[in-house]
Amino acid sequence: MRISELFTKTRKEAPADEVSKNAQLLIRAGFIHKEMAGVYTFLPLGLRVLENICQVIREEMNSAGGQELKLTTLQDPEIWQKTDRWDDKKVDVWFKTKLKNGSELGLGPTHEEPLVRALKPFISSYKDLPFLAYQIQTKFRNETRAKSGVMRTREFLMKDLYSFAKSEKEHDEIYKKFIDIYNKVFKRLGIGDQTFLTFASGGMFSQFSHEFQTVCEAGEDTIYLDRKKGIAVNEEVNNDQVLADLGLKRENLEMVRAAEVGNIFTLKDKFSSPFGLTYVAENGENQNVLMGCYGIGPSRLVGVIAELLGDEKGLVWPANIAPALVYLARLGEEKQVVKSANELYEHLTELGVSVIYDDRDERAGAKFADADLMGIPFRVVVSQKTVDSGNFEIKSRTGKDSQLLSEKDLIKKLVA
Ligand code: ATP
Ligand code: MG
Repeated sequence: MRISELFTKTRKEAPADEVSKNAQLLIRAGFIHKEMAGVYTFLPLGLRVLENICQVIREEMNSAGGQELKLTTLQDPEIWQKTDRWDDKKVDVWFKTKLKNGSELGLGPTHEEPLVRALKPFISSYKDLPFLAYQIQTKFRNETRAKSGVMRTREFLMKDLYSFAKSEKEHDEIYKKFIDIYNKVFKRLGIGDQTFLTFASGGMFSQFSHEFQTVCEAGEDTIYLDRKKGIAVNEEVNNDQVLADLGLKRENLEMVRAAEVGNIFTLKDKFSSPFGLTYVAENGENQNVLMGCYGIGPSRLVGVIAELLGDEKGLVWPANIAPALVYLARLGEEKQVVKSANELYEHLTELGVSVIYDDRDERAGAKFADADLMGIPFRVVVSQKTVDSGNFEIKSRTGKDSQLLSEKDLIKKLVA
C-alpha cells in the first residue's frame, strides 16, 4: 500500500469531543471515523486491524472445532417472545423497527434464540452432540451511554460461540477448555499479561460465569485481582464466601479498573427448553440439550489494545494484528533513492511482508511521526545515506535505536 494512494490522512489533533485515548489515537491515525455517538466506521487501516483480530479469534475457534455460520441481523419477535426477551422492560437495549405492513422486527443484540431455532431441525439424537457453532457478527444495542470510543458502542462486532452438549459433564469439559482457548486468544493479541480470568455471577445456572478482564484505566469495570494467582473476582461476587471458595485472601487482592474483553456462561437448558431442543439419549430418553455461550468483542479489543499499548507517540500494534508489518519511509526524491525504495517495496511485497510505503515528498520528521502514530511495528528508511552504504535502516516502533542491515538480513528479520 502506497501512502500516496491511501485516501485517509493522519491529523495532528483529535476532535475536541473525543476524550478517550483510543478514539483520539484511532481518529488521528485515520483508522476510524465517528458517525455519531457510539457509532464508528472502520476505515482501511482500522479495518485491517479489526480483521486481523477476527482472524486470530477465528483460528482459535476453528481449532477448537467451532463451525462458523452467520445468523441474521433482522430478528423475528416470535422467538424472543418465547423466552420473554422481546419486551423492552425485560431487555432494555433493543433497537426495533417495522415492516411496511406494520409488524415489528428487531436488530439482534445477541443470538441465542435464532441459533437454537435454526439448528433444531438438525438435532435429534445423542449422535448429533456435542458441537460448537459460532459467528463473528455485528450486534446492535441501545446502550444508555456510549463510552470510551470503540470500547462501548451501539453497533459493534461480537464473536459469539455456543456449545451444545449432552450432559453436564460434557458441558463442563467444553467450558473448561474454553478458558484455556480464551487465554490463548488474548495472549496472541498481545494483552495476555494484562488479561485475567475473572469470576462473575453465574446467574441461575451455575455458581459462576467467567469474564476475561483486561486491566485498563479506560475500562468500566472494577475487579479484585490476585496478581500472583492470575485470577480476579468482579464486584458481584466479591464477598467472603466466594473468596473462601476460590482460596483467595482479601489482603492479596488489588482493586483495579478493567475492561471486559470476553465472557463465558453456562446456559443449561435456558434456551433449549423453550424451543424444545431435545435429543434422544442412548437409553432412549428425551433430554434437553445443554448450552453454553462464549463471547469476545473484537471491536472493543481494538480500543483496549490501543489504550493499553499506545504511547505518547501514538498507537502500538503487535505484529500479528498491525495493519502492516513495515512502514517504508523513503527520504528524498533522488533517482537512486526512489529506485532502491521501489525495489525493496516490491521484494518485501513478493515475500508476503505487508508494507505501508511512504512514497510522498515529505520531511523525514513528518514521515516518522506518521509511522509512530499508526503504530507500525517496523520502520525502514531508504535515503541517500542508506543507498551509499548499501544497507537499509530499520527501527522497531518501541525500540530506541535503529540498525543498519543488508537487504538479506533485513528480509531475514522481517520474514518469520
Ligand atoms: P458489558 O458488561 O461490557 O456490557 P456484556 O456482558 O453485555 O458486556 P456480552 O453480551 O456477553 O457482554 O458480549 C460479549 C462481548 O461483547 C463482551 O465481552 C464485550 O467484549 C463485547 N461487547 C459487549 N457490549 C459491547 C458494546 N456495547 N460495545 C462493544 N463491545 C461490546
Ligand atoms: Mg452489556
